[in-house]
Amino acid sequence: MLYVIKASNVNLKLLQVLNKEKKMNKKFVISLIGAPASGKGYIASSLISELKNTYAYKNEDIADVSVGEMIRREKRENTPLGQKLAANMKEGGLAPDEIINEMLINELKTINAKVIVLDGYPRTIGQVRAYGKLMSDYNTAVVFRDTPKDLIMERVKDRRICEKCGMAHVVSDGVCSCGGKLIKRKDDEVLPERLEEYEKMTKPAVIELKENGKNFFWYEGTAEGETIAKEFFESNKKYL
Ligand SMILES: [Zn+2]
Repeated sequence: MLYVIKASNVNLKLLQVLNKEKKMNKKFVISLIGAPASGKGYIASSLISELKNTYAYKNEDIADVSVGEMIRREKRENTPLGQKLAANMKEGGLAPDEIINEMLINELKTINAKVIVLDGYPRTIGQVRAYGKLMSDYNTAVVFRDTPKDLIMERVKDRRICEKCGMAHVVSDGVCSCGGKLIKRKDDEVLPERLEEYEKMTKPAVIELKENGKNFFWYEGTAEGETIAKEFFESNKKYL
């Protein structure tokens, strides 16, 4: 009897070691979620800098994946998936969850980096519900910066791009150094609608994710990227 208990203890121990090893070999997917124009790109670059500066990660160890960018690429290249997306999406509207899930999981399989910073996923209830299963081959964490609408509107108020060369500017009017006219980004022009959609579609998903998510990190809208990155990786060292 004693022998049996001992043996199962050994097995349990072995199982724990194996599980730990498995966990350590998994890639780490960090999901960044937040309102449109709330600075997810800024948080992504802060996380990447921290990985490089403090944890000695190299460029090839990190992938920066934007779901929005992925959708644009599929549509631009007119792939079968892109055609499905175009048929399903209204201007500025959200793409169907099943297509996004499929596209994302295929994309993740092609990535060899150890850490994947994922911008803009999951952002609907449907995506949140598929998230656990979809990501079962990865270690995951969610970073959410809760930026109030007023702060977002204030930040983008003077954001312009040059019509001719595409350079970004922060001014209310004027011309680019290349002589091009400064215009609002197409995204920014429809920002009030996008924020409304966010409140309706994404906010409930964020709440559900926060309640069920095991590795959810919530930050104030005014939190600096550098502070977020330090705190976040401090809490997730086991996945690095
Ligand atoms: Zn220009």
